[in-house]
Amino acid sequence: MADDRKTELEAILSQQRTAFTSARPEPLSARKDRIQRAIALLRENGEALCRAMSVDFGNRSPMQSMITDIAGTVGFGKYCLKNLTRWSQPEKRKVQFPLGLLGAKAEVRYEPKGVIGILAPWNFPVNLSFNPLMQAFAAGNRAMIKPSEFTERTSALMEELVAKYFDPSECIVVTGGPEVAHAFSSLPFDHLVFTGSTVTGRKVMEAAARNLVPVTLELGGKSPVFLGRNADIAKAGERIALGKMMNAGQICLAPDYMYVPEEMEEGAVAAVQLGVHTMYPTLRDNEDYASVVSDRHFERLQGLVADAKGKGAEVIEVNPANEDFSATNTRKMPLTILRNVTDDMKAMQEEIFGPVLPVKTYKHIDEAIDYVNAHDRPLGLYYFGDDEAEREKVLTRTISGGVTVNDVIFHVSMDDLPFGGVGPSGIGSYHGVEGFREFSHARSIYAQPKLDIAKLGGFKPPYGAATAKAVKGMMK
Ligand code: NAD
Repeated sequence: MADDRKTELEAILSQQRTAFTSARPEPLSARKDRIQRAIALLRENGEALCRAMSVDFGNRSPMQSMITDIAGTVGFGKYCLKNLTRWSQPEKRKVQFPLGLLGAKAEVRYEPKGVIGILAPWNFPVNLSFNPLMQAFAAGNRAMIKPSEFTERTSALMEELVAKYFDPSECIVVTGGPEVAHAFSSLPFDHLVFTGSTVTGRKVMEAAARNLVPVTLELGGKSPVFLGRNADIAKAGERIALGKMMNAGQICLAPDYMYVPEEMEEGAVAAVQLGVHTMYPTLRDNEDYASVVSDRHFERLQGLVADAKGKGAEVIEVNPANEDFSATNTRKMPLTILRNVTDDMKAMQEEIFGPVLPVKTYKHIDEAIDYVNAHDRPLGLYYFGDDEAEREKVLTRTISGGVTVNDVIFHVSMDDLPFGGVGPSGIGSYHGVEGFREFSHARSIYAQPKLDIAKLGGFKPPYGAATAKAVKGMMK
């Protein structure tokens, strides 16, 4: 069965690569047409996709999905449409003196790689399939997408819609569980983009390495919040609450834990609570608040809280309307703040990816910097405060994929900024011109003048005085 699937995937890849090769050189209008069709697919079926996501999650606000998965992705497609002509221009490069005077020329052409594989997770299933697709198309590639098995209906709908808007030689969605995902990641693509956990990312890179397939790995991690001493606590609390509650914390860039000055801990915790109360007066039947995606994920999150409690953490459940969650099977989980956390707690060891927020305190900001530096490099890092020197200290002494100052998550929504992790939070990036280049091959082209440059340069045997002179000149 697995072998049949692998053969089928290989056949699709081969069909796409043949179509890609025989269509070259393709005009930029072909790329634009593909992006426009992807945009039309989202515009015309956005509501149906949002309904499917809501059913897959148990509950997920269609309005939220509209912002995060549909409108945001259409916006990114429009950004690619607007910039792709400029991105695709060949770039003149310098040649060493005096070659330029003799007529030598050098340039870089950004050429499509071929067929790009896109492996997407469940938390933003449409966004994380179609955003890389828009940029893969912008760079002139074909694409195969394997969305997550956890969002089954959304994945099936994407499969059906992509088949309607695209020829299978341009783009195709294939569905299935981890076995299909593994077979998919073992295909000899021209590039593979994986968005998901660090654990699976390792397996994907291993499978890709066998074929020397270059990868972009968009992974996760524990993204810290630094609350500076002069931060506006009320504003910070509300923004952290929004970032942690959206999609019930199931965002790769969600603030994972919060580091606050010790004398401000009470105030910071109260500010986050107030933010939750204001935006989510109820949770259980509130459509704005998403469910945890599956029983397995729900149990994992409950386990993180129980483990922390057992090891001495203070647990504060932010339940604005005092609702009873025990008798429901909606997998809704209130924001749970953990105080007095220690490194032996699972909540401080693994990415939380849900509505649980550990709080750590510092006397001096250097302690927070040292802590972050002693752990895996995070995907995002957040600093709240207006103390420029302190902000620069935090930014210049830590390393993270990206940063938002005085808010959380927002840097990912800037189309022109590259988005990606560093170290265990990811390899490579997309969005911005960097994404176009990630999915392109930078092909160097050097044109030799008519003159016998090798002879003039002393490179031509028999070696002698001219060679010695040239070497001497080069070493000066
Ligand atoms: P996951 O790693 O479990 O799954 C992601 C994809 O990998 C799915 O399509 C799945 O089918 C596939 N997969 C599963 N087993 C595989 C295997 N052995 N070989 C190849 N592929 C396999 O991740 P998830 O639970 O869907 O998503 C949550 C994780 O994703 C979190 O860690 C989060 O931080 C991360 N994430 C990162 C970003 C980002 O842009 N950096 C965005 C969203 C989510």
